[in-house]
Amino acid sequence: MRTARRAALILCALSLAGAASAQEKAIVIAASTIIDGHGHLLHNTRIVIENSKIIRIDPKAGPVTYDLRGLTVLPGWIDCHEHISWHFGEDGRLAGDGIGKNEVPEHAFLAMAANAWATLRAGFTTIQSVGSPADVGLREAIAHGEIPGPRILTAVRPLEGRGPQTGTPEEIRKFVDRDKAMGADLMKIFASASIRQGGTPTLSQGQLNAACDEARKDGLRTLVHAYGVAVKEAVDAGCTEVEHGMLMPLSDLQLMAEQHVFFDPQAGLVFQNYFDHEKNYLGIGGYTPEGFAAMHKVWPSDDQMFNAAVHTKGLVIVFGTDAVAGAFGYQAEEFIYRVQKAGMPAMEALESANYYAAESMNLQNEIGSIAPGLQADIIALAGDPLTDITAVRRISFVMKDGVVYKNVARNAIPHRADVTP
Ligand SMILES: [Zn+2]
Repeated sequence: MRTARRAALILCALSLAGAASAQEKAIVIAASTIIDGHGHLLHNTRIVIENSKIIRIDPKAGPVTYDLRGLTVLPGWIDCHEHISWHFGEDGRLAGDGIGKNEVPEHAFLAMAANAWATLRAGFTTIQSVGSPADVGLREAIAHGEIPGPRILTAVRPLEGRGPQTGTPEEIRKFVDRDKAMGADLMKIFASASIRQGGTPTLSQGQLNAACDEARKDGLRTLVHAYGVAVKEAVDAGCTEVEHGMLMPLSDLQLMAEQHVFFDPQAGLVFQNYFDHEKNYLGIGGYTPEGFAAMHKVWPSDDQMFNAAVHTKGLVIVFGTDAVAGAFGYQAEEFIYRVQKAGMPAMEALESANYYAAESMNLQNEIGSIAPGLQADIIALAGDPLTDITAVRRISFVMKDGVVYKNVARNAIPHRADVTP
């Protein structure tokens, strides 16, 4: 009898403990305004999170763990085009990709970790780096929770048109297979020279066909750096996404829409960042005075192309900043250019970095929206970005996979000193 009673008590205690720990596991966020990432607004409700996932949206859920009322709550942003390893060396000059000339490895690794942390604090919980072999270690360290940063997808080694690795279609196929074996999540393909070198094509149609076909067989998406005629070549080759796109006939926008090719144009941050840091870049590689003059010349025509893209029915525009050294932590500036300079409606600009960016990565059922079943990547900012897009600079709260990395929300009354980046 005694033993039976004791066992019953223990069972009872265990079930209470179970209930308590289930209760403790749930995180509840109270929000007065949610932009869900896919064009919808929700008001005065609560987001319930368990084990890194959003489990339900329920205005009656409690107790509240984080009170974000008074702020605008969104899914964590996704940047489809970054160069996370690029940084300035100790001399303030571009050290580029991985480890720069005359640079100790410690400096390079700390600089990359700093880029990752600045990116996460700015509200970006996922980025696609296009890419560097140095990304692989960073991706793993962040995924294992060793250092804070966004979730990283990387192209590892881009396929450079006219680069030493570019050869016959068969050789290109082997390069793609090796990149996959090195841990690539996607392929980045340079089908044009840089805009600083005129943006002329660097791969034949046959080479591009081989690259995108082999990547598809390997289960890798293909992001193609393309200007002018290379845009149509990328569409004809069945590649996944076109980057940049300047100097193309505007009729190619419709072609991309019809063939369901994602488009990732840049409206401003990458240019402005180069102009602001000209002395850090000038004289290194293709960063010549003529190269800077070419960027100044082409930038105004970019607005017209971007605006035409916004008005192309069925064209999916994703958010990519092309962030290089100097731009980390400032990626949200690209939203401001998209809205103020390229005429993109604010809601569409935000969706481009949420649902559509996730869809371009085949991750729309995991990230990019605030909805049950998705990862708890949640940010909050002070102000209303639909009426004042500069609110994207004022990130007060960042959660990734249910873990809070930044919280200066102070019960929903943003304190000016806290929200200044
Ligand atoms: Zn780039």
